[in-house]
Amino acid sequence: MKRAIMPALAAGLCLWLSPAFAGKPAGQPAADAGLSIIARKTIEAHVEFLASDALEGREAGKPGGRVAAEYIRAELKKNGVKPFFDTYLQRFEAYSPAREKGGAFQVHPDSIAAYKRLSAHRKLRLQNVVGYIEGRQSNEFVVLGAHYDHLGVDDLLVGDPIYNGADDNASSVAALLQVAQAFAASGKKPQRSIIFAFWDGEEINYLGSEYFVQSFGNPAHIKANINLDMVGREGLMPVLYPEFSIPEATPENTATGSQLHLLYTEDLAAAAAHLQAAIRDGGLQIAPRPAVIARRSRGSDYFAFTLRGVPVLWFFTGLHPDYHTPGDEADRLNLDKVTEIAKATYLAALYLANT
Ligand SMILES: [Zn+2]
Repeated sequence: MKRAIMPALAAGLCLWLSPAFAGKPAGQPAADAGLSIIARKTIEAHVEFLASDALEGREAGKPGGRVAAEYIRAELKKNGVKPFFDTYLQRFEAYSPAREKGGAFQVHPDSIAAYKRLSAHRKLRLQNVVGYIEGRQSNEFVVLGAHYDHLGVDDLLVGDPIYNGADDNASSVAALLQVAQAFAASGKKPQRSIIFAFWDGEEINYLGSEYFVQSFGNPAHIKANINLDMVGREGLMPVLYPEFSIPEATPENTATGSQLHLLYTEDLAAAAAHLQAAIRDGGLQIAPRPAVIARRSRGSDYFAFTLRGVPVLWFFTGLHPDYHTPGDEADRLNLDKVTEIAKATYLAALYLANT
């Protein structure tokens, strides 16, 4: 795998460095038609809407989740990003046994068939929102994904009952909407098609991403997945999984407030290194902390991709005390940081779509 990918990465180096970064001194903003589209005020507007109390925590299958999906769909359409399917909405169903029987919601046809044979089972209607920028090659894709669902409302909570999910994951949806707009506005036709996928049901069992990959056809046509999940705060990379290898902190990778956990599967080690150089050379105000993520680890929507051998990059700014609490509010986000991460995502997508 590595040997096969290395010549391609070497050949793509020039593309990576130009036109955005060739010859740019560090600290100088790069000139790029797409990059210049990405703006803090647009990201702020997306986050303020998606994380508002009116959307009631964007729970999968609930009205607030459906409004979020409609908002994302309308933004893609307004900005000239085409629907990937006949429409932008990829509707699907998930099933589980009755609540008292336990068992998670599933989208695999075998699981659904088995649950339907039970005397009591549950059904959830969900929808991914999926747009794309067409590439020159018809059967090669890079998938950029971020889940838009969150935890909804808990009426039994004392005080604020709404899980607004500003960091988790309105931050990433806002960033990805800007990246999609940037590609559409740049007029660039990449080598590979770039899919912009906004997943439903992540907080339940990674349902949206799993359904998409499961129904995609041959996953070998997906050359990479860039996953964004929680990109607006500052926190720890939890050692949830023994497979994560976390590097020691150094002055370079722990700049206060600007750290980005840049996680990657080993087959994207060269891409991750190039991205770090591009972040530095472009003067982006984020400090990447790279770490390898193993294929068996679960933690976000990238899992559906690693499971099928698709190379993955995951952008993540870490766990913080407001994680999965009603305190995950829009006014606590670092919007400058989200903006810089959106730019880094654009550069990473440009590279992976052309290499
Ligand atoms: Zn999340």
